[in-house]
Amino acid sequence: MNFKDLNLSHRILDALEKENYSVPTPIQEQAIPIVLSGRDLLGCAQTGTGKTAAFAVPVLQHLINSEEKSEPRKIRSLILTPTRELAVQIYENFRSYGRYTRLHTCVVFGGVSQKMQVEKLRRGVDILVATPGRLNDLMNQGYVHLENVEILVLDEADRMLDMGFIADVKKIIAKIPKKRQTLLFSATMPKEIEEMVNTILVDPAKVEI
Ligand code: AMP
Repeated sequence: MNFKDLNLSHRILDALEKENYSVPTPIQEQAIPIVLSGRDLLGCAQTGTGKTAAFAVPVLQHLINSEEKSEPRKIRSLILTPTRELAVQIYENFRSYGRYTRLHTCVVFGGVSQKMQVEKLRRGVDILVATPGRLNDLMNQGYVHLENVEILVLDEADRMLDMGFIADVKKIIAKIPKKRQTLLFSATMPKEIEEMVNTILVDPAKVEI
């Protein structure tokens, strides 16, 4: 199996080649075709498995396919993740794999001034990577609108639960259209996450590594 077998645009394949990725990791091989098909996904995978590209690559592909639809730019994909470190890593991955696209990615997280983040949001973004607390604050102030989100990714859902973010996550999801694609990744499946899976995913395909 090669990335070339996965029906990806040259703009993404060239970026993956630049990263020196030749073959997809097992989770990428399984998840990318499912996400490209438009189906919801439940992924049980740890960091270090190539999980980020498993969602970033098909999200970028989906947005390239519908690129001309969105002008001015509106947030069409939202990635929620528990920590600043993960948020920055995911953001950097989107920037690398999307380097030959015209898509704009922005990252927001707490613990720093929101001024620069708000500036960047004002200029228009297609993909937003966020920690739940800061995103909720920005939404409450009217800086972020999620009514155009087509793909929602919940990364490390179990850690978001452990860190007390579930109330924020639920408030955020309530603002996203029901007609969307949802991907949820979690290393473990505590009861609260299982309940969330049952309420926010529709007939998900399961991928386990
Ligand atoms: P992740 O699990 O997303 O944190 O990825 C772990 C590491 O593997 C990161 O440093 C990625 O850049 C790298 N990586 C992801 N996919 C591939 C691939 N197909 N080939 C080589 N390295 C990869």
